[in-house]
Amino acid sequence: MVSNQSTDFDWSHHLRAQDCIAQGYLTNSKRPESHIKGVYPTHVSRGQGCYLWDQKGKKYIDFICGLGTNLIGYGNETVANAVHQAARKGPSLSFATHYELDLAEQLKSFFPFIDVVRFVKTGTEACHAAIRVARAFTGQDAVVSEGYHGWTDEFVGLTPPAIGVPKTTHMAKVISYDHNSPIAIAEPVSTQFSPARKAELETLRKSTKCLVFDEIITGFRFKDYSVSKHWGVTPDIICLGKAIANGFPLAVIAGKKAVLNCDEYFVSGTYCGDLCSLVAASTTLKLIRTKYNLDDLWRAGQRWMDEFNSFWPEKISIEGYPTRGIFKGDDLTKALLFQECCDAGILFGPSWFFNFPLMEHGFNCLKTVEEILKKIRFGQVKLRGEMPRSPFAQRVRDG
Ligand code: PMP
Repeated sequence: MVSNQSTDFDWSHHLRAQDCIAQGYLTNSKRPESHIKGVYPTHVSRGQGCYLWDQKGKKYIDFICGLGTNLIGYGNETVANAVHQAARKGPSLSFATHYELDLAEQLKSFFPFIDVVRFVKTGTEACHAAIRVARAFTGQDAVVSEGYHGWTDEFVGLTPPAIGVPKTTHMAKVISYDHNSPIAIAEPVSTQFSPARKAELETLRKSTKCLVFDEIITGFRFKDYSVSKHWGVTPDIICLGKAIANGFPLAVIAGKKAVLNCDEYFVSGTYCGDLCSLVAASTTLKLIRTKYNLDDLWRAGQRWMDEFNSFWPEKISIEGYPTRGIFKGDDLTKALLFQECCDAGILFGPSWFFNFPLMEHGFNCLKTVEEILKKIRFGQVKLRGEMPRSPFAQRVRDG
């Protein structure tokens, strides 16, 4: 616990968790250590639109967006109603259903390079399945990777001390853009939204037999619904997740028939076709074609970024793409900003990241942020909590 914590900080749920949740938290990025411990709420009670409420009823605008899952608003009424009905029809039936066909066809209409899809539940599973398919397709084992692709052995093996990962694991090696590789998996854009990155991906495309784009984060958050589509660099397998079902557990691998139907590889799961997640995704995708225009979100994010970057650019700035970015600057300034914003009801992080939320009523908190930066500039703010730590070791981020 934090020594200089304020006396009224609510540790009650945190303390309860120590006695009933293994390691205290289910998701590394939701641990207090991943935020300003002693300042950020440890537990929240609900979300609506772009807002979150903590256990004490304090309201925040949430630039974390449920780690990227909240695309069109927490508690979206249309999605909730559709899921409610799906739950009453199942949600997990003994045979395949037309719901999986509906969603698969819908996805094909978003991404013309897709022939076929598979549904799984999490980004981790999607990336793991993608590697398995890639190995089946190429007949080769070696995988090169870049960034975070979930918590399976071969990716966690990259982050010492990798406790519990067998020493014999076929670990993915780090991508080198000078070498040909049979299989590569990469997040096409993490924050490096630049022509240089596009050129790098084009090189990777040419030098790779089976290219997997992990668009778990960028899928439906990026312009044109994905980096691959926006830049016209087509992977053999695309992984989607997070935003696709607006918070329900669904992830996708998709690509050409020649790749995804290449052999009798084994990927299967009891819950892969549960109606609630499929319907949540179908409804979310319908809504972003009818009610919410993601180009508007992109434009609003761009404005926000540009304005923020005009406040104190020599000390703190945002990099990334308009709907997701990372704060750059010295750690103390960033921590002070996050702390004061949290006090003012604005949440960013973890790993200094933010996702730009859909703000239906045009809420604008930039004035508050600007005032806070002035206070920091004049030395009027002290850190009350602990500096955040990365939820992951070394080169892997955000989970
Ligand atoms: N790939 C990327 C790029 C991610 O950011 C994440 C999660 N943050 C994953 C894969 C794993 O997804 P999940 O947490 O749903 O297993």
